[in-house]
Amino acid sequence: MNDPTQLKSYTPEALRERFRRDGLPAYRADQVLAWIYQRGVEDFAAMTDLGLALREQLEASWRTRALEIESVQRSTDGTVKAVLLASDGAAIESVLIPEPGRNTLCVSTQVGCPLDCSFCATGALGFTRNLGVAEIVDQVCRMRELLDPGQALTNVVFMGMGEPLLNLPAVLDAIRVLVHPKGMAMAPRRITVSTAGVVPRIRPLLAAAPVNLAVSLHAATDEVRDQLVPLNRRFPLAQLMGALRDDDLITPRRPVFFEYTLIEGVNDSPEDARRLGPLLRGIPSKLNVIPMNPHPDSSYRAPSDAVIDRFTAEVHGQGIRVTLRRSRGRDIDAACGQLRARGAGPGGSVSL
Ligand code: SF4
Repeated sequence: MNDPTQLKSYTPEALRERFRRDGLPAYRADQVLAWIYQRGVEDFAAMTDLGLALREQLEASWRTRALEIESVQRSTDGTVKAVLLASDGAAIESVLIPEPGRNTLCVSTQVGCPLDCSFCATGALGFTRNLGVAEIVDQVCRMRELLDPGQALTNVVFMGMGEPLLNLPAVLDAIRVLVHPKGMAMAPRRITVSTAGVVPRIRPLLAAAPVNLAVSLHAATDEVRDQLVPLNRRFPLAQLMGALRDDDLITPRRPVFFEYTLIEGVNDSPEDARRLGPLLRGIPSKLNVIPMNPHPDSSYRAPSDAVIDRFTAEVHGQGIRVTLRRSRGRDIDAACGQLRARGAGPGGSVSL
């Protein structure tokens, strides 16, 4: 939801402009942003370098929190999943993945998702609405509070609930807050946006923000991809891969990260692996193979370890840079394709 009184819905430039229009010096906006994003203080009363009258004025006009944490689950592998509630009661999920030397946060961009990928628990929920900028940014603020003392967030991936490119303006403004020196000052290359393949919005994303692009591929033929990612009927493989191949913003220094969920008997054959060579040829890229994470709404299963190993070896033999990604947080349904916060559900629609 876009709420004009919600401070986190403004990029730093927009907040300075808004303060000027309200008759306040622009540097006051910088001071407030430093408290919120750099020091993690959201209560105006605690912003001690602002005068008392100004603190009271800000308190009366602005809100600084868009989400509240409803529940937190911790996996045996250290992964943390939280259900976050928006002011209208909508529930979304964010997942924190601590690893040695890095702490990655997976954020949601929509309540539910309209794309209905057949292996995904979020898709099974249907779509309710887009998240507003503040609701995306606040996932980062709330979730970093769950880090162990002394730890900092290092990476953000837009791979939670929803298709980010169907909410592109809000995603771009949220990225602007994350990377701005007066915002969270993150390096853009530490941010990854994932898409199921909304072809016309890939170039605008790449041109607007120097972030990483991930593409949910999951199949090497239209026949199988139509089943797994129904968006493929709208933007088939030839169109998707052609757009990526032709995009001069995709380079060896800025490759595409293809995601391939490996599903027993569906897309795990040696022929599938061999088809990936010609499909990815000419696109600077890496392929992440992720064995299917089961969930109750799906009969799909991961292949055996032997099949997974044979598949990745065959892909590697095609000259593709491939990584096998073992899932994190499966015991708390926090792995890819398992997010399904209650509160999402049929009701909304978005246009492509
Ligand atoms: S995989 Fe991503 S795009 Fe597909 S339904 Fe799930 S959340 Fe939506």
